Amino acid sequence: MKLASRVQTLTPSSTLAITAKAKELKAQGHDVIGLGAGEPDFNTPQHIIEAATLSMNEGHTKYTPSAGLPKLKEEIVGKLKRDHRLSYKASEIIVASGAKHALYTLFQAILDEGDEVIVPIPYWVSYPEQVKLAGGIPVYVEGKEENDFKLTREQLEESITAKTKALIINSPSNPTGMIYSKEELQVIGEVCLENDVLIVSDEIYEKLIYGNASHTSIAELSPELKEQTILINGVSKSYSMTGWRIGYAAGNEAIIKAMTNLASHSTSNPTTTAQYGAIAAYAGPQDKVEEMRSSFEERLNIIYDKLVAIPGISCIKPHGAFYLFPNVKRAAEQAGYSSVEEFVTALLEEALVAVVPGSGFGADDYIRLSYATSLDQLEEAVERIHKFVKGKM
Ligand code: PLP
Repeated sequence: MKLASRVQTLTPSSTLAITAKAKELKAQGHDVIGLGAGEPDFNTPQHIIEAATLSMNEGHTKYTPSAGLPKLKEEIVGKLKRDHRLSYKASEIIVASGAKHALYTLFQAILDEGDEVIVPIPYWVSYPEQVKLAGGIPVYVEGKEENDFKLTREQLEESITAKTKALIINSPSNPTGMIYSKEELQVIGEVCLENDVLIVSDEIYEKLIYGNASHTSIAELSPELKEQTILINGVSKSYSMTGWRIGYAAGNEAIIKAMTNLASHSTSNPTTTAQYGAIAAYAGPQDKVEEMRSSFEERLNIIYDKLVAIPGISCIKPHGAFYLFPNVKRAAEQAGYSSVEEFVTALLEEALVAVVPGSGFGADDYIRLSYATSLDQLEEAVERIHKFVKGKM
């Protein structure tokens, strides 16, 4: 049978592909260290697990409204008020099966065939595919390493056409860990308002920030920007709840309503038990969030210095998320590889370290390393990379 054209060009997520290959080598008995994962290595805090279990024992095992439990939406409204001084009505919130699915449903709701969405490079792997699946066209803008990969006013203005529907910003960023300042967001916001471009603000790593950095949501800068923005967030990264699949979108009521209609014919509702867990995450103690954050920061500070000491590798120091995105072009060339992809394959097969090639993020000269693994493993992995690179010189 011939498959639909929409899936024929769809590429599997490169982060999942490398993880699968690393698992295969591990199953064969090789001592592989996987730095490909995009999820925290901590278990979900116990009080969240208990609240979810209790909800099932109390019989909350049935469908919920398509946009999510009213109580969970109330908690999300409270969180947005607390953290960003943003006031949303419950009708301006939709709970989805993860932030990924919130984004997917959003693009289905706003894009017509040929509509353009500006996607800054490096991007999270799913943005372009989701835009294309909705009939849209991703318009790429290359962030420069010397500018911390940030989108500039000039770049944004140049990329806007009559067909531009939306811009995606992801701060803190996966894969670079960069965070836009308030002033930089103000500039982006101005241009989007002037040109009526919807801002899709993916803030999933909001709680994982380091050093003196702070996170600002573009929606909090003015009432106009709040109306121009669809804010995306969820519990996966902040509460180590990746497998629970709970995320949300907040913004314009008509867009949220359209997304809810779509959800009512696709997922019906996000898993009921997981929604009860998410209520506990937002309503309960937040000390675990800080514990996990500070553990990531400690790891970052230790391995960053070791990584940039490797000949041929340069890397901006991330301010958020849990990834490093070094430029390894010179290291790959010095080691005799014609591409970073080849370098990554050899690194896995010979040094038994799994990293993700930057090509999946639109940046061929780079690799992504996740530091969501133990410090021992991280130190060993960076040492292996160092030896591998030096051994080939
Ligand atoms: N947005 C970014 C930038 C991500 O890195 C991820 C997960 O890797 C997501 C969204 C999806 O998160 P969720 O688990 O809530 O679907």
